Amino acid sequence: MSIQENYSHIKKQLPENVQLVAVSKTHPVSAIREVYDMGQRIFGENKVQELMEKSPLLPKDIQWHLIGHLQTNKVKYIAGFIDTIQSVDSEKLLSEINKEAGKHNRKIKVLLQVKIAREVSKSGLEVTEVLELFQKYMDGGFPNIEITGLMGMATFTDNENQVRNEFLKLKAVFDELDQLKKLSTLSMGMSDDFPVAIECGANSVRVGSAIFGRRDY
Ligand SMILES: *Cc1c(COP(=O)(O)O)cnc(C)c1O
Repeated sequence: MSIQENYSHIKKQLPENVQLVAVSKTHPVSAIREVYDMGQRIFGENKVQELMEKSPLLPKDIQWHLIGHLQTNKVKYIAGFIDTIQSVDSEKLLSEINKEAGKHNRKIKVLLQVKIAREVSKSGLEVTEVLELFQKYMDGGFPNIEITGLMGMATFTDNENQVRNEFLKLKAVFDELDQLKKLSTLSMGMSDDFPVAIECGANSVRVGSAIFGRRDY
């Protein structure tokens, strides 16, 4: 199937209230343009370097989401234009984003990335750290940041039950925080598991290969 067909096919499966982040990492600007021309405006990249190379070549009304691990020393390169940083996994990073957003006189939206997978390779905050950090945020600790929600990745496995349990765990944390302060975004689900994620309460999904095709790396 073509990129356009893939995109339509995915869009048809998403309820109206579910936001689609089209994950364009490793794919060329021409591919992003095809999906843009079909109306998609939110794109996700996981590397600062790649985002900085591609974004100037594409329309200004794209809302870029960073979804990969972000080093504090690279925040300055994206602080002027990034829409949402989905992968905040430390207080140090949150502080740095707050500082750089201030320099640009803007608020940057972030999601706290929560570790729900069993794999050690997957990063994210532990649930207790999320609660602590959120409290500091509510106490006014990060004035140039808006925490709009949470992001998580399930374990890479065929065991749908495990994936479901991990998503439900994140949904429970989301509901807890949402009681303290209204949140808009629960980002979970990728090409292989987004239907399960939506059943578990996701209202934002990050879909790459099911739109753009396989990545060669
Ligand atoms: C690459 C990536 C995705 C998209 O993965 P696909 O399986 O290609 O849909 C989603 N989220 C994160 C954090 C990623 O790094």
